Amino acid sequence: MRVVICGGGVIGACTAYFLSRRGIDVIVVERTEVAAAASGKAGGFLALDWCAGSPLDALARRSFALHAALPGEIAGNWGYRRMTAYSGYVVAERDARRHVRADLDWLCDGVIIASRLGTTATTAIVHPRAFTTAMMNAAQGHGTELRLGRITGIVRRADGSSVGGVEVDGGVIEADAVVVAMGPWSLVAAGWMVLPAVFGRRSPSLVYDTGKDVPADALFLEYQEDSGAVVTVEVFPRADGSTHITAFSDEAPLPLDPAAVTPDSGAIDRLQAISERLSPMFRADRIIARQACFRPVTQDGLPLIGKVPRSEGAYVASGHNVWGILNAPATGEALAELIVDGVTRSTDLAPFDPIRLRSLDPSLLRSG
Ligand SMILES: Cc1cc2nc3c(=O)[nH]c(=O)nc-3n(C[C@H](O)[C@H](O)[C@H](O)COP(=O)(O)OP(=O)(O)OC[C@H]3O[C@@H](n4cnc5c(N)ncnc54)[C@H](O)[C@@H]3O)c2cc1C
Repeated sequence: MRVVICGGGVIGACTAYFLSRRGIDVIVVERTEVAAAASGKAGGFLALDWCAGSPLDALARRSFALHAALPGEIAGNWGYRRMTAYSGYVVAERDARRHVRADLDWLCDGVIIASRLGTTATTAIVHPRAFTTAMMNAAQGHGTELRLGRITGIVRRADGSSVGGVEVDGGVIEADAVVVAMGPWSLVAAGWMVLPAVFGRRSPSLVYDTGKDVPADALFLEYQEDSGAVVTVEVFPRADGSTHITAFSDEAPLPLDPAAVTPDSGAIDRLQAISERLSPMFRADRIIARQACFRPVTQDGLPLIGKVPRSEGAYVASGHNVWGILNAPATGEALAELIVDGVTRSTDLAPFDPIRLRSLDPSLLRSG
């Protein structure tokens, strides 16, 4: 059996790993490079039980367990480590309490910790680019082939209802099954088959070289800007000595080429000004990346994972929103079971069945 995976982000890499471990012949086709998009630019934060009470709970718990087990199973160092997570707020400049000493000694005065959200039993982090690359390398170790190329369509068998391969740069790769895992670019695939829309929401992020100066404390802080707007700033110190900071998002148009994603300079300036209020560690000369990425979002906020309606042999795994790095391992594991065995055992994918959402009309997308 040959499976072609469209997209070399964290979802494509994890799906390739779990399929190839079952002895399946896998080809991953990636347009730019592995982890070129959100999977290389995310924070990498993981939480065991933050999806409790939502349909994502089982997927998140299984993924959290797989993240803990994978460092013992495959080669590479992607900085997996347990951490503590806190919520809090930053006192406004005009407020006299801005001189109140911070609860954590690496933060500026006026940064108040309100509660502990997670402990080393429930929260952790990976370096997302290194994790995605390690999963792809492990898949390649099991025989997966990685091809650089742009997928431009699917090929249907003579009966019209089943999929027989993909079109890549003018050629065809034949396959028994095709997995669409192109993050927000999965929208393009809705022109090839009956698929609900996946949109992209852009967020800026800054990465600082903080070495060993910042401990393993993830922060979720409310910050009131001069305009009066309150934003949540997320701070993720990683094991490689980099600290990732992100906040807010916008609805910028998604460039067709993933390599053309750039941050809005105003958003980066705003984020830099906020970061400087948080800790003396976040000085401008410590910035090592100013970037943006689009997280893939669906109409109901839940991912699409499962069979594509009315296209035998086609599967989708996209729309993982803010939890794609966390939920990639259990997505790949369960999707591999669905493709190879026809049923899932590890995680129930029913809540993510694409059939729950209205699909786009492919002819509208084809006509532009
Ligand atoms: C700022 C930010 C912070 C985040 N932080 C976290 C976090 O802390 N924890 C967490 O769990 N999640 C986080 N996320 C979410 C997470 O990054 C995403 O959900 C996840 O990376 C999506 O992975 P993906 O593989 O579906 O898509 P992508 O990473 O977008 O990968 C899609 C791939 O498909 C390729 N592609 C596109 N078109 C084609 C084509 N025609 N042919 C071939 N290849 C193609 C692209 O080049 C790309 O490599 C964050 C997201 C953002 C934006």
